[in-house]
Amino acid sequence: MTSSQTTPDMSRAVLPPLPADVATPAYVLDAAALARNMATADRIRREAGCKVLLATKAFAFPAAFPLMRAHLDGTTASGEYEARLGREEFGKEVHVYAPAYAPGEVARLADIADHIYFNSPEQMARHGAAARTRPGVKVGARINPGYSNATLGGPLYDPCAPNSRFGTTAAEIDQLPWGEIDIFHAHSLCESLHDGSVGLIAHVAQNFAAYVRRVKTVNFGGGHFVNKPGYDVGKLIAAVKAFRAEFGVEVVLEPGAGLVVDAGYLVASVIGFHHNVARIAILDASASTHMPDVLEVPYTPPLLGAGPSGVLGHDYLLGGKTCMTGDVIGAYSFKAPLAVGDKLVFGDMMQYSFVKNTTFNGTPLPDMAVLDADGTYRVIKRYGYDAFRERLG
Ligand SMILES: *Cc1c(COP(=O)(O)O)cnc(C)c1O
Repeated sequence: MTSSQTTPDMSRAVLPPLPADVATPAYVLDAAALARNMATADRIRREAGCKVLLATKAFAFPAAFPLMRAHLDGTTASGEYEARLGREEFGKEVHVYAPAYAPGEVARLADIADHIYFNSPEQMARHGAAARTRPGVKVGARINPGYSNATLGGPLYDPCAPNSRFGTTAAEIDQLPWGEIDIFHAHSLCESLHDGSVGLIAHVAQNFAAYVRRVKTVNFGGGHFVNKPGYDVGKLIAAVKAFRAEFGVEVVLEPGAGLVVDAGYLVASVIGFHHNVARIAILDASASTHMPDVLEVPYTPPLLGAGPSGVLGHDYLLGGKTCMTGDVIGAYSFKAPLAVGDKLVFGDMMQYSFVKNTTFNGTPLPDMAVLDADGTYRVIKRYGYDAFRERLG
């Protein structure tokens, strides 16, 4: 995704080989595309000699983990439940960070996670000892490096924006108990290309060398958009290698979006039409409930085979069936008029989609499915009324 409401021109996109009778709505992981992304992770780990973790906050899809496990070092979590998911379903290293931990959370995390990161001197003082209850647990400190490069959503997605909750600022960095800290952590990117990754690494080397020399590991966070066209992975690899050579530390990267970008779809059906100045097609998928970043970032998602309005001859606004007036996905054009039952395939729908969906309005949740590399279509999970009812208490 990009922070733009311009409709991408996907008129020449090749549609994935989905079954003609595919049930909708459905989030569909494209295993062949994921394999290409995993090859990038392999290359980074091999050539840069660093670790690569999956940030499960972006993509918590256990059915995909067998396709990722061999290519990654583990997972990183935003709290206890994601850490447990990583431990039970992914089964390699488990890292966890939260801006603050709830009472008792760190004691429980010490049994689940191998690497526990703290946000501030206050959090270290409050919970640091609890992290040490299991020998071998590594302790990290998240630093706010004061380096802004987030390409998405402006300050909304910039961890170094003014008044950000994330990471100890340079002003307080000497209040951290450096003798007890194993990992220096700096997450400040978001959908950043290699200039962001390289810039962050150089910025930490220049401004935080004295602290880097006190730890064994440096974690440069997520936001490295390594599989996005235009990202020069060679430049990242060179920067990581140079940093390792200069400081003799282990390096960790923990992208979410960058590992699953363009690796799957949200497939929807046209279920009806409306006319109000514009022609409007109503779908069984919804921006509000199924692709909340479309409204939050905001951005207009790619729709395979469609173009911006005014280009292909048949213009439509696409909207969801919720009662929220703003539940509009975007303005597109098509080569032929749309009809009820037409299947629409939105691209790049793996990161921050199903992990954020809701049952607002009683809207049915999409299937979770995998399109295997051999063309087999597997529905992993189908939701019904129970998924809606269960969350209401
Ligand atoms: C969100 C987040 C990530 C993953 O970010 P992406 O933009 O999905 O790559 C990694 N580390 C931390 C601490 C995060 O908050």
